[in-house]
Amino acid sequence: MNIKKLVFATGNSNKVREVQMILENRLELIGLKEIGCFEEIPETQPTIKLNALQKAQYVVDNYKLDCFAEDTGLEIEALNGEPGVFSARYAGIEKDANANMDLVLKKLKDKKNRSARFKTVVALILNGEQYTFEGIINGKIGFDKLGSNGFGYDPIFIPDGYTQTFAELDDDVKNRISHRAKAVSKLKDFLI
Ligand code: IMP
Repeated sequence: MNIKKLVFATGNSNKVREVQMILENRLELIGLKEIGCFEEIPETQPTIKLNALQKAQYVVDNYKLDCFAEDTGLEIEALNGEPGVFSARYAGIEKDANANMDLVLKKLKDKKNRSARFKTVVALILNGEQYTFEGIINGKIGFDKLGSNGFGYDPIFIPDGYTQTFAELDDDVKNRISHRAKAVSKLKDFLI
């Protein structure tokens, strides 16, 4: 397919940086500010997939541009899949990563099962057609917040096969193995 530029519907500059690294220079991302979108895009759906589709559809409806969006959640086995779709506002305050991690650590305090996974769904809308691509990484929740790379829940997530958290691992390691890397690689294979 012959697409060189595409709108990425996110206001999260960490995600833009990660996704641009994963895509290398095969696809140039257009940010929301560049298309004049400064408002918060609604994310009110009950699942990660529907949230991703909602964000992409919002840009298509309001800006008449093809685009992709993504939504991510942390799913913890011992908490029946929580925080899941509520990952961004788990502790009540929107986007307070420290409070969210503290709540997870508190809820897991006496739990032996620390298994967890990150799930990303990328939703692409191209010429009115919807496509979705999923990426999952399995791992476990540590006992402390460790490391300063990445963002969100990275300091408490230890991917399978590693002893360090995502926030301790180098960016290029996370960008090779992560949930987002897997979903975005599928998008890349589809587009390029
Ligand atoms: P959203 O996809 O931006 O709605 O993110 C949901 C929540 O998951 C937010 O609290 C993010 O900080 C967190 N999150 C998303 N992606 C990652 C990641 O790659 N690592 C750690 N936390 C993430």
